[in-house]
Amino acid sequence: MEATLLQHPALESVLSDLAAEMAVRTDRGAVATYIPQLGKVDPAKFGIAVALEDGRVISAGDADEPFSIQSVSKVFTLTLALGKVGDALWKRVGREPSGNPFNSIVQLEQERGIPRNPFINAGAIVVSDVLLAGHEPREAIGEILRFIQFLADDDTIYIDRDVAASERATGFRNFALANYMRSFGNLDHAAELALGVYFHHCAIAMSCRQLALVGRFLAFDGRNPVAGHSVVSPGRARRINALMLTCGHYDGSGDFAFRVGIPGKSGVGGGILGIVPGVGSLSVWSPGLNANGNSHLGSIALEKLARTMGWSIFSP
Ligand code: GLN
Repeated sequence: MEATLLQHPALESVLSDLAAEMAVRTDRGAVATYIPQLGKVDPAKFGIAVALEDGRVISAGDADEPFSIQSVSKVFTLTLALGKVGDALWKRVGREPSGNPFNSIVQLEQERGIPRNPFINAGAIVVSDVLLAGHEPREAIGEILRFIQFLADDDTIYIDRDVAASERATGFRNFALANYMRSFGNLDHAAELALGVYFHHCAIAMSCRQLALVGRFLAFDGRNPVAGHSVVSPGRARRINALMLTCGHYDGSGDFAFRVGIPGKSGVGGGILGIVPGVGSLSVWSPGLNANGNSHLGSIALEKLARTMGWSIFSP
C-alpha cells in the first residue's frame, strides 16, 4: 500500500501520457447507434480521472466533458434499491454473470423471468421497478438523480432528456424484456412506467471527474472519505464491488477481470467506472465500443493504468 501511495505524485503524468497515447490511436471501436442520440457523439473523445482518498481528482484529456453514463448508472440504482428493500431484492434478481449480451432475452424464459444479475438490462429494469414502488416515475427519477448529485456533492449532474427520448423511441428490446418479466409476475408496474425510470437514469450525463467522485464511496468501505459519512455499510460496498467484478461488463466481464483486475462497470456511452479498494475510483470515457458493448479504448487505458500503478484486487 505504501508503494502505491508513493506513486501518487506520478499519477498526473501517467494519466496525461495515457490520454496522449489514446488520442493518436486509430482503433477506436464503434459508437453505439441503436440509441440514435448516442450515435452523434465524437469518437475522438477520451477522458480519464482518478478520485483519491484525500479529495483530489487527477485527470487528463476530455475529463470535464459530460457524456451519457448509460449502464454505469445501474451501480447507483442498485445501491438505492438495496437501501430500500435490502436482501429481498435477491428474490427478484440473481447474482450470477450471464455470459450473454446486455440486452439478451434468452435466459429469461428458462429462468422464469428472474434476470441473472442487476447489471444486464432485464435486471436493471427490475431494479427500476423496485425504485418506483410508492412513487410516480418523476419522483423515482428525481430520487436517483439527487442521490447521484449527493454522492459527488455536485448538483450540475443532469439528465439528458434528448438521450432518454431517443432511447424510448427505439427501446423495443427493453419493452420486450419488461413485458416478458411482467408475464412471469416479476414486474409490479406497467413496462412503460418502469422503463420511464430506466431510460432516464441511463440518460444521466456527467464528466469523468464527476463519475469518479460519484463512485468513490465504493473504494472506501462505503464511506465518503473526505466528509466522513457512510453511504452504505462496508459489507454492502464489498458486495456491490463483487457484482461489478463478475457482472459489470456483461459477456466481457471475465476478460475485464483478467486484463484489468478490478471491479468495473461499463456503459454504451463509452464510460467505465473502476474501483481500486483503499486507493480510489477511476473513470474513463471513450465512446467507441468493442464487440461486447464496452468501451474499446477505455478498457485498454484502464488495463495500462492498472498495470503501471500496480493496482489489482488480486495482489496486496
Ligand atoms: N440504456 C442502454 C440500454 O438499455 C444501456 C445499455 C448499456 O449501457 N450497456 O440498452
